[in-house]
Amino acid sequence: MAILQFMSCGLPSTAVPTSIHCDHMIVGERGTDVDLPASITGNKEVFDFLESAAKKYGIEFWPPGAGIIHQTVLETYAAPGLMMLGTDSHTPNAGGLGAIAIGVGGADAVDAMVDAPWELKAPRILGVRLEGSLNGWATPKDVIMKLAGLLTVRGGTGSIIEYHGPGIETLSCTGMATCANMVQHEAAATAATIASSPDSSNLLQADAGAEYDEVVTIDLSALEPHINGPFTPDLSTPLSRFGDAVKVNQWPESFGAGLIGSCTNSSYEDMTRAENLVKQASAAGLEPKARFFITPGSEQIRATLARDSILDTFSLAGGTVLANACGPCIGQWKRTDDVSPGESNAILTSYNRNFKGRNDGNPATMNFLASPEIVTAMSYAGSTTFNPLTDSLPTPSGTLFRFSPPQGSELPSAGFAQGSPDFCPSAGLPSPSQPVLISPTSDRLAVLEPFDPFPNHELQGLRVIYKVKGQCTTDTISAAGPWLKYKGHLPNISANTLVGAINAATGEMNVAYDHFEPGIPKSGIPELAAKWKQQGKEWLVVAEDNYGEGSAREHAALQPRYLGCRVVLAKSFARIHETNLKKQGVVPLTFADKETYEAIDAGDEVSTAGLLEMLKGGGKGEVELKVKKRAGEEKAFAVKHTISQTQAEFILAGSALNLLAKIGLA
Ligand code: SF4
Repeated sequence: MAILQFMSCGLPSTAVPTSIHCDHMIVGERGTDVDLPASITGNKEVFDFLESAAKKYGIEFWPPGAGIIHQTVLETYAAPGLMMLGTDSHTPNAGGLGAIAIGVGGADAVDAMVDAPWELKAPRILGVRLEGSLNGWATPKDVIMKLAGLLTVRGGTGSIIEYHGPGIETLSCTGMATCANMVQHEAAATAATIASSPDSSNLLQADAGAEYDEVVTIDLSALEPHINGPFTPDLSTPLSRFGDAVKVNQWPESFGAGLIGSCTNSSYEDMTRAENLVKQASAAGLEPKARFFITPGSEQIRATLARDSILDTFSLAGGTVLANACGPCIGQWKRTDDVSPGESNAILTSYNRNFKGRNDGNPATMNFLASPEIVTAMSYAGSTTFNPLTDSLPTPSGTLFRFSPPQGSELPSAGFAQGSPDFCPSAGLPSPSQPVLISPTSDRLAVLEPFDPFPNHELQGLRVIYKVKGQCTTDTISAAGPWLKYKGHLPNISANTLVGAINAATGEMNVAYDHFEPGIPKSGIPELAAKWKQQGKEWLVVAEDNYGEGSAREHAALQPRYLGCRVVLAKSFARIHETNLKKQGVVPLTFADKETYEAIDAGDEVSTAGLLEMLKGGGKGEVELKVKKRAGEEKAFAVKHTISQTQAEFILAGSALNLLAKIGLA
């Protein structure tokens, strides 16, 4: 959708260097040789579209199998002082090299691509002071897992985390990337970066006397491995107490799969330390009790691990090496052979997210997060109560085996291998004659048509399509799951618009009534909206507090707009969604008096007074709504807005992209 939106601006190339990474749609099941070709075939039209658009606009294109965006960025683009936006919430990974890298929604990425200002509320700076040095089994993953437990998934809100203190000098670059990777989603921070001590030779230093809004201190010397989860990354338990936690919480005492790698933890250091444990266990004649999967983060790391026989060690021990892609971390795990749908079970991963259903689509799978080392060692026991630091395993020869603390190498002594040239990115100057490949019969991709500008008069006869009761998240407005397939096809994905919304009058979900037709036929909300769109009738939604909370998903603004929504009238808005609505030319208004929510209903007709003048005045001026009730009675009430001068220009032009296209092409 970001590329489709960029295309609608009509610009010949992106304003900032841009890259596309095809990592989320690759299945992890039987191993890369089988999974990758099948995934490429299944998603061919999407990959062909992205590749052709990349050529046309001079965007670097990393083909499917080349790697996971964050690992690729760390290897290729990250640099101290770089500021970068990425359309994934683990973008802060590049902070491991001193970048400020922020995960955003597609619409925000398009802002950067078209050279529009990108706005962020000035962040607080949360200092995380690292003291001492890691030893034994403790890893950088344990730093961020402990931090997630200290901060909780809301604790970093509005902050950029700056890791600093003497402990920084003891960590590798990839270790710091792991610490940065999980700050946005798992601790709600905006980004993370690193600052060495002023007395180090490292140039990435904090200013002398740097002040932080808050400081959290972690003593690396005393840090023990942690296991976080299930279902939330901030439920953090030190390994020494995990066995008891399993019993107290009645979590499963065995687990079926251990998965290592992903964008969070597939560095050479991670993998050589895991390999060391596998070699120890193999030498004792042991095999993993849980299934064991390895996801390299990029072709570069895969090729290096293959050259150094590390992947062979994993495979000989019974591990399955998956494609260089997200695979099970994004739910592309076809797990059909060991657990039935809905069956309660546990898995252990070195990934970063662990909400319900995340990995295998089974909400009853309890997914615990740990370092690759802990996942690997525990996979040999298949038991959630096994502590590899203190417990032993019986060997086939009848002796007892206990792991020694893992050893590894921060960097490959022979340097990094380049890997297959098939996975090299394409780069080049924009090629304006290159057609962008979108089949007119595709059900997954459709060229975006520009939205109509705001009419040169007040809005009249807007129909209230639905009055939403209670919470209305971006998921309520644009559901995910199977609908994600249609993210590039606005007409098709719009068939899910507001399907999770509760009707304030009837308590039904996704049941709308067409009060403007004899017999008041009922239908789903998207069906009624599509019918009105065909009749040329525009509409508005009425909602309660925090409308559009939950995510930056731009589809939640694009879809209603596409179906004819001009106004959303709510008690209050989630800030990012409110901005997204304005960017798509929808006017977000709030009740001056929240009680007025009771005075308006589905089937009423609304006209605006003062809205056009306010927009033309750059956001200045009072706005009133005149409501004609279904029974004919008329009411008027004041509404409020937060529309700035620039946003008023977006709305008048029909959308931010319409305005940018006008400016860009002028
Ligand atoms: Fe996101 Fe997981 Fe892929 Fe990383 S590996 S980019 S967390 S889906």
